[in-house]
Amino acid sequence: MTLTDRTRLIQSISDPEKVWDIIVVGGGATGLGTALDAASRGYQTLLLEQADFAKGTSSRSTKLVHGGVRYLAQGDIGLVREALYERGLLLKNAPHLVKNLSFIIPNYRWWEGMFYTIGLGIYDMLAGKLSFGPTKHISKKHILADLPGINPKGLHGGVVYHDGQFDDSRLAINLAQTCLEQGATVLNYFRVTGLIKNDREKVIGVNANDAETGTTYQLKSKVIVNATGVFVDELLQMDKPESKPLVRPSQGVHVAINKSFMPSDEALMIPKTSDGRVLFVVPWHDKLVVGTTDTPIDSHSLEPVALETEIDFILNTAAKYLTKVPARKDVLSVFAGLRPLAAPQHDSSKTKEISRSHKLIVSPSGMITMIGGKWTTYRKMGEDAVDKAIEIGGLKPEVCKTMDLPIHGSTQGTDWNDTFYFYGSERDAVLALANENPDWGKKLHSKYDYLQVEVIWATRHEMARTIEDVLARRIRLLFLDAKAAIEAALVVAELMAAELKKDAAWQEEQIASFTKSAQAYLLH
Ligand SMILES: Cc1cc2nc3c(=O)[nH]c(=O)nc-3n(C[C@H](O)[C@H](O)[C@H](O)COP(=O)(O)OP(=O)(O)OC[C@H]3O[C@@H](n4cnc5c(N)ncnc54)[C@H](O)[C@@H]3O)c2cc1C
Repeated sequence: MTLTDRTRLIQSISDPEKVWDIIVVGGGATGLGTALDAASRGYQTLLLEQADFAKGTSSRSTKLVHGGVRYLAQGDIGLVREALYERGLLLKNAPHLVKNLSFIIPNYRWWEGMFYTIGLGIYDMLAGKLSFGPTKHISKKHILADLPGINPKGLHGGVVYHDGQFDDSRLAINLAQTCLEQGATVLNYFRVTGLIKNDREKVIGVNANDAETGTTYQLKSKVIVNATGVFVDELLQMDKPESKPLVRPSQGVHVAINKSFMPSDEALMIPKTSDGRVLFVVPWHDKLVVGTTDTPIDSHSLEPVALETEIDFILNTAAKYLTKVPARKDVLSVFAGLRPLAAPQHDSSKTKEISRSHKLIVSPSGMITMIGGKWTTYRKMGEDAVDKAIEIGGLKPEVCKTMDLPIHGSTQGTDWNDTFYFYGSERDAVLALANENPDWGKKLHSKYDYLQVEVIWATRHEMARTIEDVLARRIRLLFLDAKAAIEAALVVAELMAAELKKDAAWQEEQIASFTKSAQAYLLH
């Protein structure tokens, strides 16, 4: 049995008398960061995720590990400094997933060169010893060489600065694996459906449901952490039905297009587009991801749908900066994510503001809720949540250990041109699986280098349970080319069915449900 074996993990939650130190609800960046912090301090930790790890916002980010140039412009120095520090730690602890990337801001007005060189010089300074490299002003000739495809008309020059880029859902999977190595139990496809309270109205556990079998569990814990992102209000309402909404979702959209629109290993950043929003064009897994900052919306879902106005804005804005203009037909995949921003509250008496980036709320029942923040600061959010859990749950205090804790797969000297780089220290083991069955050495799709063996690996070692888990979050084909992902579904279903001992009906149901949800990533 492997560490990730679902049967073994379910056995570990089957004792109805067991009292966990911490139960974390939600398996995105916030929940995984909290569970890892707790487990590495030695606390008995259980994490429950209703779908797959990073199924929500945490697989739909811009893929930047950054301080946030935008927050610097808003003068939030403390927030930028904290995020830049965390950026440095993440590069140290997950060097197989975090890349130092150059971002170029093209200057179309004479004063912009000086303005951005000074501003980003401050950004570097705030990173201190953890700087990713100095900001430089570059000439028009230099920028045209570095960013082929950029619109030269009216271009004066540019400013280059450095930030981090990562693979968000791969980091989530590796964090789940690190949690297991640190002694936690983490389960995907386990939904929390209710809270258990004692006669003093304190939360002492959760009711949870195994989505695969329908079996229900009553799980007791000294502390419960609500890390459900845009879903936090659902748990808060389970706690207190009259709770006012804490979160206002803010939707961000990205499209993936071919690299031929900007064949560069550097990224383009437009700090201020026509409506004041930021636009990024970032090379990622041999494609370009183009996206902007968010639009507030009133509803939330696990599969948010990109608004037509957002797609038009991205394409029209990119068209102003690129010579080869991307059209709707060039969009290979479109994905939307919801940022769990704090809704404006009048009663802030129970709200402890750790920083403007994330908030930690303790309900009268003792449940701890985390909102806001960003992927880059997931570790710090986890640390803050566990510090609070120690106080609320009366746990024996232990110091935080995650600052120096390597994340599963961590290895030095990553070759970013290698198709399989993101497996880090496990790369060779993944490919060696093909020795078991030479067919697994074949490609998953004729246009891409992904191999069948990766499906076997994801199923055996990375807790993948569905076609979508593999094609969206273990490898990123759905986010890079939705049509190719749909075409690969059949072979993924066959490979997974053999591993998981599932029948033909399971395969059919899986293909149908994946094809249906993947349609939303295509532009029609
Ligand atoms: C468009 C966009 C771009 C972004 N880009 C960046 C970026 O480049 N860099 C950066 O640092 N940050 C970025 N962010 C921010 C970052 O992605 C988020 O802050 C982070 O992913 C939020 O993680 P989370 O764990 O709080 O939420 P989520 O990832 O949504 O996780 C919450 C989880 O809780 C689960 N859940 C809900 N209810 C239950 C229940 N009852 N039982 C069990 N599980 C449940 C959900 O299924 C979900 O998986 C971006 C955000 C957006 C929206």
